[in-house]
Amino acid sequence: MTIKKDKVVIFDTTLRDGEQAPGASMNQEEKLEIAYGLEQMGVDIIEAGFPIISKGDFEAVRAVAKNIKGSIICGLARSIKKDIDAANDALRGAKKKRIHVFLATSKIHMKHKLRKNPDEILKMAVDAVKYAKTKMPDIEFSPEDASRSERSFLYRILEEVIKAGATTVNIPDTVGYSIPSEYGGLIADIKNNVPNINKAIISVHCHDDLGVGVANSLEAIRNGARQVECTVNGIGERAGNASMEEIVMALKTRSDIYDCSTNIKTTEICRVSRLVSKYTGFVVPPNKAIVGANAFRHEAGIHQDGILKERSTYEIMRPEDVGFVGTGLVLGKHSGRHAFKERLKILGINLKASELDNAFVRFKSIADKKKNVFDEDLIAIVEDEVKVIEETWHFISLVAHSGTDIKPEVEMILKSNGKIYRQVSSGDGPVDACYKAIDGITKLKGELLDYAIHSVTRGKDALGEVMVKVTIDKKSVIAYGTSTDILEASAKAYINAVNKVLSL
Ligand SMILES: [Zn+2]
Repeated sequence: MTIKKDKVVIFDTTLRDGEQAPGASMNQEEKLEIAYGLEQMGVDIIEAGFPIISKGDFEAVRAVAKNIKGSIICGLARSIKKDIDAANDALRGAKKKRIHVFLATSKIHMKHKLRKNPDEILKMAVDAVKYAKTKMPDIEFSPEDASRSERSFLYRILEEVIKAGATTVNIPDTVGYSIPSEYGGLIADIKNNVPNINKAIISVHCHDDLGVGVANSLEAIRNGARQVECTVNGIGERAGNASMEEIVMALKTRSDIYDCSTNIKTTEICRVSRLVSKYTGFVVPPNKAIVGANAFRHEAGIHQDGILKERSTYEIMRPEDVGFVGTGLVLGKHSGRHAFKERLKILGINLKASELDNAFVRFKSIADKKKNVFDEDLIAIVEDEVKVIEETWHFISLVAHSGTDIKPEVEMILKSNGKIYRQVSSGDGPVDACYKAIDGITKLKGELLDYAIHSVTRGKDALGEVMVKVTIDKKSVIAYGTSTDILEASAKAYINAVNKVLSL
């Protein structure tokens, strides 16, 4: 690929490094849906996985490679033939593809992890790049733990892998140890000391252990890096990776400093952020830059006054530029189907006729319980309807008896195949009683690994969203349920989890 000097290539690794975040595992369909979102957003390269690691990873890379045509699809490989073969096989269906090989180059990694001397490492790296090059032209090489590697050895290995055919060289701050001035200096030094560096693009990959992953990436760009590896919402190993939305918006908002642009359609940012949050179960903190619920909210009276007079007084970015929704009061119980559909269109949501029917019915029932329906409510309603999975069990209703000093008891009514099922159970709390009743009806035994509740909107009548992580039959899934009643939201989330397992 040819890159104009001022273009920063966005290499998204949400599906690879992001998925390495503890507890973030996603299934193939979820990964594919995120990949579609990334493609639509204009991401240049999608690192879809590490094919040799597991069958699941291999299949996910293969599915992404087969279906996504707008972005380059990348597979990760150690500097070992069988890894490169697996990556190549997984990428076979891709229109545009890249193999990313890596090998550690810091003394501490070479000695303790790989037990090899520098000359052996250099040979392994060159051999790996040469071998990968026989498979495809677009090859990236990463000297793992580059920021802690000895400089002269790092320059030497970069020169040799470029000679061997690497078209991108990535400089990872694998352990998140660097600070911005130092890391920027490293990139500048690489530019000045690797004789053939102009034949490759310099990439960076920063972790956020010291909270400076984004700052390091930006400083690297100022010093000549032209590819950034990042993830949506900054998810990843340990404290995570540099966050894509923050890098992209910093480059855009401060183009006076960076003089660089990206291919990212920034209006897609919030949508993809929601998708990643939904499938990983990682709630975005309200104060998170760019995509947090409070990122564009002004609370202080003096700020609100300023904003009303002139937005730029306190606003450096416009919420609509990142596709941020959720400030407007839009619909109520008298709103019709047309208004509902139009509003969804503005939010970038297009439903099939049958999905729209179901979503509208749900909207009506929520508008009955809730005076004001906000954009966030609409998104929650729609996400509940857009399901790829088949609904074996439907929630009908529940009645709960609970209170201080009473053993909670729940009567649950579900429907399946046109038949109504009823069960009364007691438990340690009303949610526990609910789940015991559902287990009793479905004859499945679920183990609840995680449970979280948060309000999707504002006000006492807000929609509550419950996230559950459940293991049933050794299969773990994440599922959601929304309602103005938290017990109902809890029941729906659990039933969605059951349906998800049954559809696997
Ligand atoms: Zn990483």
